[in-house]
Amino acid sequence: MQTHNLIDGAWVGASDGATLRVTNPARDEVIAEVASVGAAETRSAIDAAWRARESWAAKTAGERGGLLSALAGLMRRDTDRLAALMTAEQGKPLAEARGEIAYAASFLSWAAEEGKRLTGDIIPASAPDKRILVLRQPVGVTGIITPWNFPAAMITRKLGPALAAGCTVVIKPAELTPLSALAIGELACEAGIPDGVVNIVTGDAATIGDALFDDDRVRKLSFTGSTRVGQLLMSKASEHLLRLSLELGGHAPFLVFDDADVGKAVAAAVACKFRNAGQTCICANRFYVQDGVYDEFVAGFTEAVSKLTVGDGAHEGVDIGPLINDAAVEKVESHVEDARSHGATVPVGGDRVHPKGLANRFYAPTLVEGMTPDMKLASEETFGPVAPVARFTAEREAIELANASEYGLAAYYFTRDASRLMRVAEALEYGIVGANDGGPSTAQAPFGGVKHSGFGREGGKYAMDEYTEIKYVSWQL
Ligand code: ADP
Repeated sequence: MQTHNLIDGAWVGASDGATLRVTNPARDEVIAEVASVGAAETRSAIDAAWRARESWAAKTAGERGGLLSALAGLMRRDTDRLAALMTAEQGKPLAEARGEIAYAASFLSWAAEEGKRLTGDIIPASAPDKRILVLRQPVGVTGIITPWNFPAAMITRKLGPALAAGCTVVIKPAELTPLSALAIGELACEAGIPDGVVNIVTGDAATIGDALFDDDRVRKLSFTGSTRVGQLLMSKASEHLLRLSLELGGHAPFLVFDDADVGKAVAAAVACKFRNAGQTCICANRFYVQDGVYDEFVAGFTEAVSKLTVGDGAHEGVDIGPLINDAAVEKVESHVEDARSHGATVPVGGDRVHPKGLANRFYAPTLVEGMTPDMKLASEETFGPVAPVARFTAEREAIELANASEYGLAAYYFTRDASRLMRVAEALEYGIVGANDGGPSTAQAPFGGVKHSGFGREGGKYAMDEYTEIKYVSWQL
C-alpha cells in the first residue's frame, strides 16, 4: 500500500515526517498513515508539473492516448486489489467499488481517444491576404481537488481529459480517502507516464489548496466537493483569475408520474438513492409521486428498501456500508428527527443499526412519508440512506417542487408519455436529467450542474474544453 506522495516521479514523505491517519469507517480502525505535506512540498509538485508541461504537450495525441490507455488497462488488471483498498478506506460495498474502478478506467479510455479529435479551425478571413487560424492548446499546470465519496472516479474524470489535452497535474485527494489516489499514482508510473506529469500530494486541505492558488504557474483548478468549499475556492480564484471547474452539491428530485412504469421507477429509485449509502452528489434526495400511483410506488419502494442488507462493505452481498464518519451519521439522524418533529412518518428504517463487531456508523435504509417543504430533508443535502416521499397532483406543481432548490445537478422523472417526457426534460433546471433512467453517469456524456451545483462539464468531448485554451492566430500572407 503506497503511503508516500508522488512528486516528479519519486515517492516522498513530508519533509517534517508528518502523517495523516486513514481510517476504515466500518471498523473504526486506522489502516494507514499517509504523508501529510505542506506548502513547500506542494510547490515542489507544481515545480515538477511546470517542468514537465512542455515535453508532455509536445507529445502527439496518440502518444498521450497510448499512455492513458495503458493506465486504464492497469486499473482493470488490478480491479480486485483497488476495489478492496477503496472499500477499506471509504466503506462502499465491494461490488460497488469494483464498479467504480471500471467506471474510473472508462474516463481514461475515453479521453485517450478523444484527445486525438482535439481539432482547431480555419475560418475564412475578410481580406484576401489574411488567414484565420484557431488553435486549441493545453491550459497548462492543473490542480485537481477531489472528494471522498468516489475516491477513484472523481480523479480519473479530471485526470483523463487534462492529460489528453496536454496538461500536467497536481492532484490533492480527500484526506479521508488518499489510498486509492496514491494507488492510481503507482499505476501511472507503471504505465510509463513521464515524471512530473502526474503529481499527488496529501495533507491539510487548506494549506495545499492555498499553495495551489498562490502559484501563478497553476492555470486551472478542477474541483469536486461541497458547495461551501466551492464558494471559498471561487473567491480565492478571483484574486488570480484562475480558471475553475466546480462540481458541487446536489439535491436531486425524483418525479413519478401517473403514466410511469412503476416497477421500473421503483427499481431506479432504489439504485439511485441507496448506492454508496446515499453519499452521492447526484443521488435522488426527494421523491414526488403523483396521486394515481402513489400507493403502488410507496408499497413497492417500501418492500424493496426493507430487503437491503447493511454491513461491512468488505463482505459480499452487503448493499449498504457505513457512512463515512460520525458527523455524517449525526446529520442523517438530525434530518430524520426534524422530519418526524414536523409530522412525517417512517415506514422503514429511521434509526442507526449496529452490525456485530462494527463501528457505530451504520444507518438503516429509510423511507420517510409526508415530506413537506419546511423539512430539512426537502432542501438540504442529506448524504445518507434516507428517501423522503411526498405526493403531487399536477405536472406543473411537480416541476415547481423539483426546481425549488438552490441546487441544479441531477433530476429524475418517470413517465411513458412522449410529450411529457420532452416537456419535463426542458423545464427541469438541472445539468443532468434522467428520463426513465436512474443511472445517467457515463464517460461519454457531459456531467455537471447549474445554480449552486457549480459550472463546467466533465465527461465526453465537453471535458476537453475545460482543459484547453483557444488561441486565435491572425496570419497576413
Ligand atoms: P465533502 O463534503 O465531500 O467532504 P469538501 O468540499 O469538504 O466536500 O471536500 C472536497 C475536497 O475539497 C477534499 O479534497 C477536501 O480536502 C478539499 N478541501 C476542503 N477545504 C479546502 C480548502 N479550504 N482548500 C482546498 N481544498 C479544500
